[in-house]
Amino acid sequence: MHRLTLAQIARGLAAKDFSSVELTEALLTRIGALDPQLNSFITVTADQARAQAQAADARRAAGESGALLGAPIAHKDLFCTQGVRTSCASKILDNFVAPYDATVVEKLAAAGCVSLGKLNMDEFAMGSANESSHYGPVRNPWNTECVPGGSSGGSAAAVAARLIPAATGTDTGGSIRQPAALTNLTGLKPTYGRVSRWGMIAYASSLDQGGPLARSAEDCALLLGAMAGFDPKDSTCVDQPVEDYLAALNQPLAGLRIGLPREYFGAGLDPRLSDAVMACVEELKKLGATIKEIGLPNMQHAIPAYYVIAPAEASSNLSRFDGVRFGYRCENPQNLEDLYKRSRGEGFGAEVKRRIMVGTYALSAGYYDAYYLKAQKIRRLIRSDFIAAFQEVDLILGPTTPNPAWKLGEKSSDPVAAYLEDIYTITANLAGIPGLSMPAGFVDGLPVGVQLLAPYFQEGRLLNVAHQYQQATDWHQRAPEGF
Ligand code: GLN
Repeated sequence: MHRLTLAQIARGLAAKDFSSVELTEALLTRIGALDPQLNSFITVTADQARAQAQAADARRAAGESGALLGAPIAHKDLFCTQGVRTSCASKILDNFVAPYDATVVEKLAAAGCVSLGKLNMDEFAMGSANESSHYGPVRNPWNTECVPGGSSGGSAAAVAARLIPAATGTDTGGSIRQPAALTNLTGLKPTYGRVSRWGMIAYASSLDQGGPLARSAEDCALLLGAMAGFDPKDSTCVDQPVEDYLAALNQPLAGLRIGLPREYFGAGLDPRLSDAVMACVEELKKLGATIKEIGLPNMQHAIPAYYVIAPAEASSNLSRFDGVRFGYRCENPQNLEDLYKRSRGEGFGAEVKRRIMVGTYALSAGYYDAYYLKAQKIRRLIRSDFIAAFQEVDLILGPTTPNPAWKLGEKSSDPVAAYLEDIYTITANLAGIPGLSMPAGFVDGLPVGVQLLAPYFQEGRLLNVAHQYQQATDWHQRAPEGF
């Protein structure tokens, strides 16, 4: 049963081949047996999952249908879950039990999803390797010596290893698409404002967006349909009808204009990944797409701009973790200042502290104009590049990452090397456009991802192209040995 996709599970549940309770039990057993090799879960909520599965089976028996009714998933541990620890993989929130559900959690539960627990991640979603978690690193099921990507590394590893069919993730600079690429999954970062951020612990509020990681575009369509939509509790959530993503999947690709940005194929890209991406392009041409070279001239400034803006917003967002109201508090504080200093000093990990310091510096008087304001101007230019490109093409295609998964520890002492891994993904967050990563081959037994980018609110187009590609290829169906 663990090999089934969400779409197959929906059919199996409808045909009464198995119940949600049976499926949930099978997956809980698998998590118990295999997750020690991966460390993808921070918390397994077995009792709650059993209760939710029973409730889903009862709703089905009472005549309800719905594709996600009884479908097991799990949430990245930065979505607040009522009554369940929500740690953001940080010591500072190790004892935090959320008093309410995030909108995404609530919507998926209302659709009938069964949550098996909370997934490991980089601390406060800061990282590309899932090595900065207070609960230890996550391993890649394709090679357990390698990282699964980050920051949604627990989500990616658990889905790739068939412990759960799908998971939620969040993407501030690539954290859904990059781990999806490194573990052979399909992952979608929606348009900024498409999915509510209410109850998602904030990293960089103007960039953060929740989305699905799954084993096919069809499964992402199912999940996004339930996750997306206006939420009055998030003032940046856009009041726009949610497209029927499943209906969008079957459009033919004839006449689709795909742009290949020359900046995505330059120095820094592993030539073996470039070959896999070009093979994907050939396949899409066979399906009727036309190809055009385009330019995104300001891409070279994206990493420096992102690593000013994201830490600046993080330094402000993370000021709420002060040891006073919730979360970790140091032993025997001598006075208020000591309480703040030691609670934060002991509660945050090294990467989080680095970002708070960089962000605070960039926002301080005298540096604000030189760094933060300049970065915002670059952000505007990057957005303009995309708007201009989408005058000429319907979709932009390139590699998701410059390299396949790397060995644990390989880049952890060099933050800049790790930051460079985000080069192809962060532009979409800076511009706010949607992006998807899909499996497109292997090098040395490690998965390669292709990234598709579309204009604002064209998630349906991304899912359509990925689905058509997945009808013609079987990369996405390959499973790691031993899982
Ligand atoms: N790797 C990037 C960072 O560390 C992106 C992380 C994310 O998307 N949450 O900021």
